[in-house]
Amino acid sequence: MAGVMTYSNNTALALELLTAAGLMGQEVKALSINNEQQAQELKDAGASVYEVTGEYSAADTNMVAEILKQAAAALGVDIILLSSDRRGKELSGRLAQKLNAGCLTDIKAIQVNGTEIECERNALGGAAIAVQSIKSTKQVLAISPKVFKQAEPAGDGSINNYAVEETISAVSVKEIIPKSTDSVDIADADVLIAVGCGVQTKYNLPAVEAIAQSLGGLVGCSKPVATDWKWFSEERIIGLSGKICSPDAALILGVSGQVQFAVGVRGARVLISINSDENAPINSMADYYMVADLNDVLPQLKDAMS
Ligand SMILES: Cc1cc2nc3c(=O)[nH]c(=O)nc-3n(C[C@H](O)[C@H](O)[C@H](O)COP(=O)(O)OP(=O)(O)OC[C@H]3O[C@@H](n4cnc5c(N)ncnc54)[C@H](O)[C@@H]3O)c2cc1C
Repeated sequence: MAGVMTYSNNTALALELLTAAGLMGQEVKALSINNEQQAQELKDAGASVYEVTGEYSAADTNMVAEILKQAAAALGVDIILLSSDRRGKELSGRLAQKLNAGCLTDIKAIQVNGTEIECERNALGGAAIAVQSIKSTKQVLAISPKVFKQAEPAGDGSINNYAVEETISAVSVKEIIPKSTDSVDIADADVLIAVGCGVQTKYNLPAVEAIAQSLGGLVGCSKPVATDWKWFSEERIIGLSGKICSPDAALILGVSGQVQFAVGVRGARVLISINSDENAPINSMADYYMVADLNDVLPQLKDAMS
């Protein structure tokens, strides 16, 4: 196998990719585009960094894919590791198409078996885990955030300037407006309180927040609560389309427990559900469940904990 190349415009994820690349037993080359600080951190982690500078925007994924394609050819790499965040996933498809490479995204674990890279991904909406590998020589693999730890400073890396051939973008980026982000990450919560549609009314949210505060927990939600009801930002979604959480304890309030949600909390050490329907699927995976109306329970729980 030829070498491995890594790229993410997000430095934390780029450092995670270095750790993943280390599993492959090949020379690792890290590409960095217009990000001096990132190039330095990757170098400090021991990588051979190829730094590209010019009028390129990370938001122009077609242009970035073109740069990566050129770099892969020039540096003689067949395997390209990208981050499976929103931008990384778009980049993966574009790059794979340009390279005529096989492509896997949302990779949750990697095992290198000789020359074969076996990748674990959720299948059937998260009800099963599939182990998949790409048969073509050229491979684009996008790894989910936090699957690997960030590479630690190790020294001995290098920074090389890499000049790409002139590339013409099909789009022009007029302005980049930073997304307003939550200051908390529910994936890091030790105690997670999940709000589902069974919470029914926003008037119940202050009680939920008070309970979360008493428990030192963070509040997440099922997908429709964020996308349809807009009670929380999409960063609070638990599950397949959101965050995979492994808290010590999860208190699940009025969530039915469809597989796309369940995949996000099945790593919880203790799972407690409150639901008015005894047969809600979430109850079958809960360590403890209470069959009750949240309109009655939430005020009482809040008072008991304050
Ligand atoms: C491709 C795909 C990806 C998806 N990804 C995700 C994802 O990442 N995360 C996610 O959450 N969903 C996801 N979904 C949607 C998922 O399938 C469910 O539709 C969603 O999880 C349902 O949310 P819910 O349980 O809050 O609502 P509902 O299904 O409406 O369930 C509400 C629950 O509350 C209970 N309830 C009602 N009233 C009360 C009350 N007064 N007191 C107590 N309990 C009450 C009900 O018994 C029920 O169990 C995805 C779907 C698809 C197709």
